Amino acid sequence: MAKGPPWVYLSLSRVMLLVLSVTVISAIALCLLSWRLSVLDRAVAQQRVRERLDHAADSGSGALLQAVSETGERLQSFLDSNSAGKIRYLGAVAHGCNSCRAVLIEPGLVTLFPETRLLYSPESPPPAVIDDGAFGGGEALEFNHREYGAAAAWFLELAKRSKGAVRAGALVGAARNFTKQKQTGDAIAAWSKVEELGTLCLNGEPCELIARFARLSLLASQPRQSEAGRLLTDLDSGRWLLSRTSYEYYSEQLSNVTGTRRSPPMWEEAVYSITQFVRDQHIAAGERVLHSLASTPVLVVWRTRGGTIAGMVFTPADVRTWLARVPGFVFGLETLDNQVILPAAHDKLRAERVLSFGNAHWRLSASAIQPMAEPRIRQVLLLTSLSLVIVLVLTGSYAVIKAVSRELAVSRLQADFVSAVSHEFRTPLTTLRSMSEMLERGRVPTEERKQRYYSLISRETQRLHRLVEDLLDFGRMEAGKKQYDMRPTQISTIVSEVVVEVSEEHAAAGFEIEIQATPAGFVLGDADALRRAVRNLLENAVKYSAGSRRIVVEVRNVEGQVSVSVQDYGMGISRADLKKIFRKFERGSAAKASSIQGTGLGLAMVHGILRAHGGSVRVESEENRGSTFTLVIPGVEPNQETVACRAS
Ligand code: ADP
Repeated sequence: MAKGPPWVYLSLSRVMLLVLSVTVISAIALCLLSWRLSVLDRAVAQQRVRERLDHAADSGSGALLQAVSETGERLQSFLDSNSAGKIRYLGAVAHGCNSCRAVLIEPGLVTLFPETRLLYSPESPPPAVIDDGAFGGGEALEFNHREYGAAAAWFLELAKRSKGAVRAGALVGAARNFTKQKQTGDAIAAWSKVEELGTLCLNGEPCELIARFARLSLLASQPRQSEAGRLLTDLDSGRWLLSRTSYEYYSEQLSNVTGTRRSPPMWEEAVYSITQFVRDQHIAAGERVLHSLASTPVLVVWRTRGGTIAGMVFTPADVRTWLARVPGFVFGLETLDNQVILPAAHDKLRAERVLSFGNAHWRLSASAIQPMAEPRIRQVLLLTSLSLVIVLVLTGSYAVIKAVSRELAVSRLQADFVSAVSHEFRTPLTTLRSMSEMLERGRVPTEERKQRYYSLISRETQRLHRLVEDLLDFGRMEAGKKQYDMRPTQISTIVSEVVVEVSEEHAAAGFEIEIQATPAGFVLGDADALRRAVRNLLENAVKYSAGSRRIVVEVRNVEGQVSVSVQDYGMGISRADLKKIFRKFERGSAAKASSIQGTGLGLAMVHGILRAHGGSVRVESEENRGSTFTLVIPGVEPNQETVACRAS
């Protein structure tokens, strides 16, 4: 088999390499480009998020400043007003918010709106003064002589004679001395009498509280626990108005007994802090975050006039309500020394503003409730177009590689074809030359041998003629210029004639061609073209017979179709070759391996001829068992009109 020129293979690999490089480079470039674009995209998106956060922080600051300054103005106008019903106005100021309290602190009186009972007050009344000498006798017996029994009796006696704070003090003294005497029953009885004095204050603390608390130490563990719990509940109900120190003392002691931990009361802390702050630092008006350990931080706005302080205490919930005017963001609010009123989100992306109200400076931070969505549509678009471009580049490259390799395969086949045709020509020409030379030189002795040489020359000439005709015909078919002279033709006649011709040609080699023809099979066809098709099949059957000498030709009429089948018992065709033998220049691998000459045009021509006749050609074959080629042409009535048509 002849090979194509080396440049064919060289350029194929070059072209493939080129296409692949272009594909890979463009894909990489596209990936880089899209990565760069998505980085830019993200930067733009982040910039946008930052802008929105800045805007939110500005709006939040505005809302906060407005709420605080409006509150300050209201408090001021409350203090400046002389109207009788102004106290109601303060209540109305507090009405607008969630959980705030308005506070009015006057000397000796603290009022909260909405009304709230305070557990302790910075303005608690001063303790009643008891004459120091009233308890002198009892205290001398108790502390100087340590005669507790006598001291207890002395105090009881004094209690009988006295009233109010003195009676209370005497009963306390008696209870104390009974305790020291270890007369628990008497001590408890004395404390119960103190309890009966109720809210009467002894050293600023109610007798009831003093007695119940003192009695706890005389009780057994279990009743002490439950009594301490009850006392704590009473303490937290605001039943007694205490000083801050007293409240904190009792609260802590009782919590230790009951084992509970409680946060300091919020409003009391606020009122206490504001009073301390205003009085200690003489700051008449201001806004502050008050933050005591373990208690809810509060925001206080206050104004003063004379000894009166009017203030508003806002909880974080109130501040959150102001900031809710800017929806979709989480706000954090803290003082510059990190006292938090609203905890900030942990989000790294946030905008901060420092707000200044006279003497207070706060930091407000805004972050998004949910991480702000990046413009996904653009990303999706980018990815889709990138994938599309990559698919297009890959498909394009595949198509180019396919087309180039097909072209190269055709040129390789053509190269093979030229070499095959040269071979086909060389064999008869060599025979013709040697025969004619011998005849010319008179080297053929007998007349009979001369006759044999003449018929050999004639046969080889016909073979050459057919070969040339075939090539020319194929050229015309390829160019679409082949003219067919279509007439009603009896195909069985054509087949019989061709069988006779081929049998004669190959009789010497021992070929037997059996024909089973059903007559009257008329088709509308070009007799020459059909003859060529049948002859091609028969010659192939001979050529690829591989030792077998039997060929069966069958012509049949089935359901208006005329079929001609040529069956041989030769080398057969492999499955892979079956798919391509009808293409021009294609030759079977077995044919090439056995060095059987051929051009690879025969079956392509048969296929073209049959297509021009509206028919088809099919093949069944098994390797080493033989092949059957069948031509199928639509049958016609013998008197159908003649037409001429051109091959497609
Ligand atoms: P050529 O015979 O010149 O090679 P064809 O177009 O007539 O070209 O046939 C194409 C190929 O089909 C052959 O090369 C051969 O491999 C295979 N072929 C055709 N007819 C037969 C057959 N009867 N038996 C086995 N192989 C065949």
